[in-house]
Amino acid sequence: MTDNIRSASRKEADALIMGGGIAGLESALNLANMGFQVIIVEKDLSIGGRMIHLSKVFPTLDCSACITTPKVSETARHPNIKILNNSEVKHVSRDENGFYRAVIEQKPRYVIDSLCTGCQDCEEACPVVVKDEYQYNLVGRKAAFIPFSIASPRIAAIDLDNCILCGACEKACGPGAIDFGQETQITEITVKTIIVATGFKLFDPDRITRYGGGKFKNVITAMQMERQLVPTRPFNTVLRPGDGKVPDKIAYVLCAGSRDVTVDNPICSQICCMYSIKQAQLILGAVAMADVTIYFLHVRAFGKGFDEFYQQAKMMDVQFIKGKVGRIKEMENGDLMIRYEDIASGQVKETQHDMVVLSVGILPNMGIEELFEVDKIKLDPFNFYNQPNEMTDPFKSNLSGVFIAGTSSGPMDIPDSILSAGAAASQAAKYMKKSQVNVSTRATTTV
Ligand SMILES: Cc1cc2nc3c(=O)[nH]c(=O)nc-3n(C[C@H](O)[C@H](O)[C@H](O)COP(=O)(O)OP(=O)(O)OC[C@H]3O[C@@H](n4cnc5c(N)ncnc54)[C@H](O)[C@@H]3O)c2cc1C
Ligand code: SF4
Ligand code: SF4
Repeated sequence: MTDNIRSASRKEADALIMGGGIAGLESALNLANMGFQVIIVEKDLSIGGRMIHLSKVFPTLDCSACITTPKVSETARHPNIKILNNSEVKHVSRDENGFYRAVIEQKPRYVIDSLCTGCQDCEEACPVVVKDEYQYNLVGRKAAFIPFSIASPRIAAIDLDNCILCGACEKACGPGAIDFGQETQITEITVKTIIVATGFKLFDPDRITRYGGGKFKNVITAMQMERQLVPTRPFNTVLRPGDGKVPDKIAYVLCAGSRDVTVDNPICSQICCMYSIKQAQLILGAVAMADVTIYFLHVRAFGKGFDEFYQQAKMMDVQFIKGKVGRIKEMENGDLMIRYEDIASGQVKETQHDMVVLSVGILPNMGIEELFEVDKIKLDPFNFYNQPNEMTDPFKSNLSGVFIAGTSSGPMDIPDSILSAGAAASQAAKYMKKSQVNVSTRATTTV
């Protein structure tokens, strides 16, 4: 590592943003519009985070991509913002003047950015098909691939783990953009402030074996349903993965992996009730005559317009059953039998459905704390990034000059992520201004 760093390029900027989801983009744009130089480090091939993959958003049913893409392209084109995709921060230290130094590793995509036109000829030529993680494994993608249609940047990448090095993509690529000789780049940057916006992880449904997640073909996650409802959806309708049948009777199981001490996640994920109610309404628009039943313990419709949205779903004939789902059984024809305790009658009941959607929750996305050399950024009891003054300064971490934005500090929806990102950016700007005497003793060069 030391040799690499010596040969690495060095840059200076005002702020480093870790994570290019909606929170990271919002923080970056706020700071960049105030004139600060910002570097976004995003580990994925595209910026946009989870939001860019959603269908519509609760409670307004606005198209998620239509809201995300203007922010994505504004960020990508902003003269004060530099984006490092396919990159991760590997180490953070602090110098005697209070500057943070971060070592960033950018992995190769084996495609020369400036030459790739996004034509997809390589994709067509590539003989290797693997599961498409951007469609949440519902369909396949090639080893030479454009991550998804509205990716930013919209350029190809080669998945070397699955590539058989047949050379078909190289032959197919007119501009000669494929470059298997690319190597990992190490960049060392010096900044005054850091915003952690690394978002959340989704609960892995395989961990609740009694629901058959990852085992029963027609038990899917809400993120897989989300992809079936987007305009760029893989099947152009809603299908059950087991046999391609359009489902009639769809069930949602709320709190799958949230508020459940048996899977070590006692907290409420805050978004699952509302995204399930949203998806139920969208399904009724997408599949004529579908019946949607939501099994819940409590419906938490606490935000602005949320309760009205819940009532609207009821008026649209979405069924709400207050009941604890104990077990899901797979039938021979792929249907699913849900066994639950009906709280209204106190009886144990069973109901058959074509497809079950597990409303999986939000888990912390840890890892940043290990990067700090001396003073570590702290986690809260549930492993989200700690907000020591949650009531008065929720955007502050325990380290001076390091701020937290979006779901990296806990479950929240998009409006709250954007709010917290704006607050983190304004606090980071205040910090840079206030500490100018101590910290900003040298000129900052443009990134
Ligand atoms: C099924 C589903 C439906 C939803 N529907 C809605 C809805 O209708 N309305 C609504 O308001 N909310 C909805 N949400 C919630 C919404 O997705 C989140 O509120 C929002 O995405 C949070 O944004 P974020 O930027 O905090 O995190 P994320 O979207 O998770 O973005 C974090 C980014 O950081 C990157 N990253 C992670 N670790 C690192 C690292 N170490 N280094 C560099 N980069 C890193 C990630 O690749 C990602 O790009 C839904 C969520 C789910 C799961
Ligand atoms: S790598 Fe070449 S073939 Fe593939 S999308 Fe880019 S320009 Fe087209
Ligand atoms: S070299 Fe790899 S990525 Fe290119 S076409 Fe062959 S298998 Fe696909």
